[in-house]
Amino acid sequence: MKIYIDGKYYDERKAMVSVFDHGLLYGDGIFEGIRAYNGRVFKLNEHVDRLFFSAKAILLSIPLGRQEMMEAIVETCRQNKVREGYIRLVVTRGAGTLGLNPNLCKNPSIIIIAGKIQLYPPELYEQGMEIVTVPTVRNLHSAVNPAIKSLNYLNNILAKIEALNAGCQEAVMLNAEGFVAECTGDNIFIVRERQLLTPPLSAGTLHGITRRVVMDMAVESGLLVSEPNLTRYDLFNADECFLTGTGAELAPVVKVDGRVIGNGKPGATTLRLISQYRALTKVSGEPIYE
Ligand code: PMP
Repeated sequence: MKIYIDGKYYDERKAMVSVFDHGLLYGDGIFEGIRAYNGRVFKLNEHVDRLFFSAKAILLSIPLGRQEMMEAIVETCRQNKVREGYIRLVVTRGAGTLGLNPNLCKNPSIIIIAGKIQLYPPELYEQGMEIVTVPTVRNLHSAVNPAIKSLNYLNNILAKIEALNAGCQEAVMLNAEGFVAECTGDNIFIVRERQLLTPPLSAGTLHGITRRVVMDMAVESGLLVSEPNLTRYDLFNADECFLTGTGAELAPVVKVDGRVIGNGKPGATTLRLISQYRALTKVSGEPIYE
């Protein structure tokens, strides 16, 4: 595998960053997870936009323009002959000193890895998954805003550990007010009486790109879509529940905190949205090969 670092391609064994990089020392940096399907990079513009919004929020000056960044991503796919894959784009603050001062990190680093991802096993998409609410609360937006896709994912990792300890693959994270925010690497949706509901971004969620695609698809197919604050009670009494994310795509949920959702099988609306989403990924995106 060839890894892009700051404009050059390195064999994966030789792809390295400094131990003084503030991305490593402090989680000071940002990232994106992007998918390639059928020789195209899916929602490339949206991912690059979100990367630049994250950068702005943490006063990180990305040393490439948006267009150059998109070209670097597509070229990294070409270098690795990717048609189907998962692209990890990372921008770190760069090497500095052992102190916190980010102004001493003169050159932010851009890393692009075009690899593979298999988040959940295929049977999970047929049978649905069980998730659990965990004690670790989602970061406050007044602390580290969850809208920033930062390299500091400890909040999510602690919640993921709690879910795994409870025998589940994903965790429902509540915000400090007790409303549902999102999961550790996915946004969450419920279906109730032909309405599609998902927590508002202000509840402390990442502005999920899959979330947006699913909301648009749902509106087009005549569902009512809204973003109210949701409680655990709303999840328990939903007709259907599913998660969305670039890696997970749409993953049906059939149990929350031991409560069976709907009839305990992936719901009809969820299944329809899954197939609509998969169809879209096959035909849409930035072509890698002309
Ligand atoms: N929430 C969190 C915390 C995430 O890390 C992600 C991305 N894996 C998502 C939601 C889903 O966002 P997207 O659909 O843009 O991948």
